[in-house]
Amino acid sequence: AAKNSGRRQYHIFSQELHAMVLERQHILSDMRHAIPRGEMYLKYQPILDLNAQEIVKFEALIRWNHPTKGAIPPSMFIPLAEESGLIGVIGDFVFSESILQLAKWRKTLSPNLVMSINTSPFQYMESGKNLERWFHQLDQLDLPGDAIIFEITENMLMHHSSNVSDQLLALRDKGINVALDDFGTGYSSLAYLNRFDIDFIKIDQSFIRDMESGAMAQDLCEAIVSMAHKLNLHVVAEGIETEHQMNLLIKYGCDLGQGYYFSYPLEADAATTLLEEGINLPNTENTVF
Ligand code: C2E
Ligand code: MG
Ligand code: MG
Ligand code: MG
Repeated sequence: AAKNSGRRQYHIFSQELHAMVLERQHILSDMRHAIPRGEMYLKYQPILDLNAQEIVKFEALIRWNHPTKGAIPPSMFIPLAEESGLIGVIGDFVFSESILQLAKWRKTLSPNLVMSINTSPFQYMESGKNLERWFHQLDQLDLPGDAIIFEITENMLMHHSSNVSDQLLALRDKGINVALDDFGTGYSSLAYLNRFDIDFIKIDQSFIRDMESGAMAQDLCEAIVSMAHKLNLHVVAEGIETEHQMNLLIKYGCDLGQGYYFSYPLEADAATTLLEEGINLPNTENTVF
């Protein structure tokens, strides 16, 4: 009997697995048409200078509105896109859309605004081909390299270091800054910070979340900020949701912040309005720590 039930369990498990594989295949084949069919678009989340309380950058975040399944989060489809090679097309879409929007905003509202763009290691694989095309697109829009930031992950530095380091040098020549995203969640970050000449680190939102309750997490964030400054890196805190978190980070000397406390990621029109009107915080008694 035991043997039988074991077999039945296996059977159920393999059915589930099969359904999962099928689901992934469906999503993958739908993803091939998503851009031509206009199902993908960008949202923009403001990044603020914490002291001036001003918007200085936006991070471009991709969205996919699937015709029958509704919104599929990037944490689900970006890994699939990376496995399948579709990330090239998607990454190009994100790049052209976001710099076009940036060019508009810099012309009309905010001449020094910067766009922070998430990139995936696979976009750096084809020995600089992508970079040439992207640089050309920047030139066509009259955008200097320092108008954009490429966000990369520690993972990327670890597994693709030989490919990536040449290309990071090319980015640097063009004036493009590099930010290490989700800082603190990967491996041996410290060695890489020096080796790859990173400009910004983005403290992962899990650390900011834990600050709310723990003195330990607060000390950790304070230490990350001062270490980063010693290494001449700028710091962005991700996932700020409360005034308390913001005030602590200001006290630690953290330069920049983003999170729901300031604004959710917004569609282009709403982001334009926010740029025009500025951020209006519910309560801005930053002097009380
Ligand atoms: P990420 O680059 O670390 O982006 C930050 C994520 O945190 C975003 O989720 C954002 O909506 C969310 N977030 C912002 N503020 C808060 C907050 O206060 N609280 C909480 N709980 N969350 C906050 P999203 O848009 O779902 O993106 C998830 C991840 O997908 C991104 O993490 C990034 O790794 C990836 N991704 C998004 N867009 C792109 C893209 O265009 N290209 C690539 N390669 N990856 C992307
Ligand atoms: Mg990011
Ligand atoms: Mg992040
Ligand atoms: Mg540097």
